Amino acid sequence: MIDKIKNYVKDNTGLLLRLDDIAENMKWEFMDEVEVLFDKYNIKPILGVIPKNKDKELLSYPKKNTNFWNRVREWKEKGWEIAMHGTNHVYDKFCSKVDYLGHGGNTEFRSHPFNEQLEKIKIGLNKFKEEKIIIRTFFAPNHTFDKNTLLALNECGIDKVLDGYGLMPYKENEVNFIPQLFYKTFKLPFGIQSFQIHLNYFNKKEFYDFKNFIEKNYKKFITFDQALSKVNNNFPYKVIRMTTEKILKIKRVISN
Ligand SMILES: [Zn+2]
Repeated sequence: MIDKIKNYVKDNTGLLLRLDDIAENMKWEFMDEVEVLFDKYNIKPILGVIPKNKDKELLSYPKKNTNFWNRVREWKEKGWEIAMHGTNHVYDKFCSKVDYLGHGGNTEFRSHPFNEQLEKIKIGLNKFKEEKIIIRTFFAPNHTFDKNTLLALNECGIDKVLDGYGLMPYKENEVNFIPQLFYKTFKLPFGIQSFQIHLNYFNKKEFYDFKNFIEKNYKKFITFDQALSKVNNNFPYKVIRMTTEKILKIKRVISN
């Protein structure tokens, strides 16, 4: 019995790394360094690539001389998951906590009419198509989207979103959600967890701590496909999901 439980926990525990704001302009010195580390430990992160970055803040980071899209193709060939992280990353609306995950805040998608969202998503996906990169995964800038975003994604054949609550991937509105609970490296003893990492925001010390975490925990990382194979809509996980949602929402209210 104990062995059975141990095996169950082992089979259903794993870490994923979600790297946000991957674009031509970013802190390349950190990206180059973590790439060496990921290769060393065979970690395959999920990269949120912005296909048509027009975000003024992000555009202030340095650009590399080499072709960005060649680099993206190289990452994909290594088995890294290339996800679409919005289309231009420009926040042109603000939403109170009425978005799909109840985060609230600036948004590129939420509250835009369905047709506008569909058009925007198509523009982003076309850029990937031009670059011969097939996309199956999306996550919205600032976590803010709505049901229309999911409908538009669905119409474009995208049915995976790396965001949401809970300890297990789940299916809702025809979309597979892979939960993203934590903003920093943190380990729970059970469940599939994804960390959101912004290399651009790291200072040297935070970057050093991040690398240390990878060195110590590399064995716990799983691939995106392994996470997807764990999609589980069983009732106990639904309860856990609702609980994590409540806790995180309360935590956000307290910390705001
Ligand atoms: Zn972003």
